[in-house]
Amino acid sequence: MSTMNLILMGLPGAGKGTQAQKIVEEFHIPHISTGDIFREAMKNETPMGLQAKGFIDKGELVPDEVTNGIVQERLAKADTAAGFMLDGFPRNLTQAKALDKMLDDSNRQLDAVLNIDVDPAVLAERLTGRFICRNCGATYHRIYNPPKVEGTCDVCGHHDFYQRDDDKPDTVKNRLDVNIKMNTPLVDYYTKAGVLHTVNGEQDIDLVYQAVSKILANL
Ligand SMILES: [Zn+2]
Repeated sequence: MSTMNLILMGLPGAGKGTQAQKIVEEFHIPHISTGDIFREAMKNETPMGLQAKGFIDKGELVPDEVTNGIVQERLAKADTAAGFMLDGFPRNLTQAKALDKMLDDSNRQLDAVLNIDVDPAVLAERLTGRFICRNCGATYHRIYNPPKVEGTCDVCGHHDFYQRDDDKPDTVKNRLDVNIKMNTPLVDYYTKAGVLHTVNGEQDIDLVYQAVSKILANL
């Protein structure tokens, strides 16, 4: 087997986090999540981290060049020699092209882009299903974890529930729409590059992982 240079993609609620964890356990490649490397770079005050901090402190969006720079700093570390899994990057075509160039410049290539695919209507169901007991804070999910007696909290017996703003249908729909708009050009780009692998994310978690694992084992 050669390298395992991966990108993990999936809309919110598609189960990317769970799959990422399983991939790391089986294949021992570093999981490079942009959120984590941003925090690291700023904490360690790397050149790119300091630049990013400047924008964030002013409440501005971090430009692509800086984001790309932070990813490049991370990909220069020795632990990525046999492979890596990017998560949350690239988010647009400019970043995707920059990634191609950085890999090219270091004589590497992208081996696979895994896209965990779930119908947005199913995602909306998953993401809007959560509700919370107003009395004790116990959390439930309409589909995955309903109270034993409908309308009654298992923990404290109260009947008053609420939803977080983040879990409300309008907020969820908006978040999904934004992400679909962002992902679609990337899916096209990597399809054309011949590296996209779409995995059906509507199956049981273990079956999703079986599919993922098979793809990776065949790289
Ligand atoms: Zn309760």
